[in-house]
Amino acid sequence: MAYIITEPCIGTCDTSCVEVCPVDCIHADDDDRILFISPDECIDCGVCEPECPLEAILPDTEDDTERWVEVNSEFSEKWPNI
Ligand code: SF4
Repeated sequence: MAYIITEPCIGTCDTSCVEVCPVDCIHADDDDRILFISPDECIDCGVCEPECPLEAILPDTEDDTERWVEVNSEFSEKWPNI
């Protein structure tokens, strides 16, 4: 299990979550349009979830989040060395 970043983040990219992540697994896309969480690095601690002012961070087990699980995973594959 990992946490994911979802639609409300688009165009905002508040970085409060980045500052609290203990393993630095929250990254931004090239255009800084959205943050994403690397599923292979996330340790599922949940610390980031309450930090997001837009409530854009959810566990990947939430209902109806399949698309955002894919988005976070695809971004992580695009930048495998970050
Ligand atoms: Fe980082 Fe923990 Fe949030 Fe995963 S759940 S992105 S490890 S703060």
